[in-house]
Amino acid sequence: MIQRIALVTGASSGIGRGTAELFAENGYYVFAAARRISRLEQIRSDHIEPIELDVTDEKAIRMAVDHVISTKGRIDVLVNNAGFGQLGTIECVSMEAAHRQFEVNVFGYARFMQAALPHMRAQNSGHIVNITSVMGRISTPGFGWYAASKHAIEALTDAVRGEVMEFGIDVVLIAPGLIKTEFVPKQLELLKTVTHPPAYQKILRGLHNLLADEPKSPGPAIIAQAVLDAVTNSNPPIRHALPLDSKMAVAARWLLGARLFARAVRHQMKLKF
Ligand code: NDP
Repeated sequence: MIQRIALVTGASSGIGRGTAELFAENGYYVFAAARRISRLEQIRSDHIEPIELDVTDEKAIRMAVDHVISTKGRIDVLVNNAGFGQLGTIECVSMEAAHRQFEVNVFGYARFMQAALPHMRAQNSGHIVNITSVMGRISTPGFGWYAASKHAIEALTDAVRGEVMEFGIDVVLIAPGLIKTEFVPKQLELLKTVTHPPAYQKILRGLHNLLADEPKSPGPAIIAQAVLDAVTNSNPPIRHALPLDSKMAVAARWLLGARLFARAVRHQMKLKF
């Protein structure tokens, strides 16, 4: 039987690491990509091969995909997952930081799709799983740039799905809600680098209130399983929001409409009207 080959980005921690390990346990040969090679070395095995790269480096991405093809001859699954959250208000996040958010979260995914698709087309098969976020469908105060980047990936994903369907390639999108990884602690650290005037302190406290449940949220295993299901089930959902908080937020936005939903979010942030 031919061994299936997966490439997972952001595999040095959290959802990417959980996904790389789960795929390896299920017989895949996994190329695990991220910047922190020491963290990737912790999961190296007969089934997991680390690749050190930054998703903003197009040349490194091309070389990584060439390496996958030259050593294994094929690429069956691309999991685009590497990302981070630039919190802060629209007024105060610098344009440089906003560009960086898109460079990693949006163009990083696009670069990998551009590098992998020619090979998937040639083999007439493949799966691409793009990890977005509940913030790909809703947007809340303080999450603007991050939500914009995730909305952008949703748009790219919906477009590319229709473009490559006829080549036997499936493209699905998984939209996690709050998951306990390094993500939120890193977000809060990065937020400290954004200078906000006193007028925004209330919003900043609200942001912390919104994220206060993170320690109680599920770990990455639930998303890793959804990624595996997305490439092994014959008819997976093309947009899968989970866990329940993610589904409910998307449904609430749709049911309440923009104005009421904005009020509900401010209530959740414990902001006074
Ligand atoms: P982590 O912070 O635990 O993992 C992020 C991964 O992305 C790390 O492996 C990191 O590796 C990698 N990464 C970040 N920047 C780069 C870069 N420039 N080049 C290469 N790799 C990079 O977070 P999660 O596992 O939670 O996040 C994974 C995905 O899930 C992200 O896209 C995030 O937006 C999404 N998500 C997470 C949610 C959550 O609550 N945790 C909720 C909704 C969506 P390294 O630093 O070694 O390069």
